Amino acid sequence: MEQQGILAVVSGFSGAGKGTLMKELLRRYDNYALSISATTRQPRAGEADGREYFFVSEEEFRQMIEEDRLVEYAQYVNHYYGTPRDYVVQQMARGKDVILEIEIQGALKVKKRFPDALLLFVTPPSAQELLRRLVGRGTETIEVINARLKRAAEEASGMEAYDYLLINDQIDRCVEEMHRLIQLQHRRTAYHLDFLNQMREELRHLDARNL
Ligand code: 5GP
Repeated sequence: MEQQGILAVVSGFSGAGKGTLMKELLRRYDNYALSISATTRQPRAGEADGREYFFVSEEEFRQMIEEDRLVEYAQYVNHYYGTPRDYVVQQMARGKDVILEIEIQGALKVKKRFPDALLLFVTPPSAQELLRRLVGRGTETIEVINARLKRAAEEASGMEAYDYLLINDQIDRCVEEMHRLIQLQHRRTAYHLDFLNQMREELRHLDARNL
């Protein structure tokens, strides 16, 4: 049987460059499946329904919660965001490494539910650089940028909950580092319990006289 895929959670401050990182990772390697979240926020210019997000009403979002169709969900700056369950479960079973690009509350819920998930935190090299990127993106008003900066300050208190820190100063290096960390996760003993048990069993019965 194909080995079950890894569940990797990628979080980071808004403006840390997670979107670009994800795009590049998926372009370079074909073992990844990026989960598409449902959200109640409005699409930004250039975003398409079913590509960046499933854009849904609050009513639809509530229904997804009630029907237990989300792995996790959280509120972020006045809107709801959640991870649809079916896609994650199916892709992992197919052996794909599934990436959830979600904020910290959701990441912590995923870790509780899937203790073997790998949690990665992406940050720009400095807080000043974060501000520069958020303003440079030009997609949000000053008020929204400030709300996101405030949220970044809150999220920063939880960074130690993540397994690894990725400093996104150079996209190329950061993508490769992320890929290596996720691939290393495949070697963790927790993903090879069948093999470990088989080895234990065989070792118990080995006898040099039978050579
Ligand atoms: P944005 O509005 O910039 O696309 O996303 C805002 C924040 O919501 C980001 O930190 C993003 O990682 C997070 N986010 C996106 N999808 C989900 C999700 O399904 N669950 C949770 N908990 N957070 C999400």
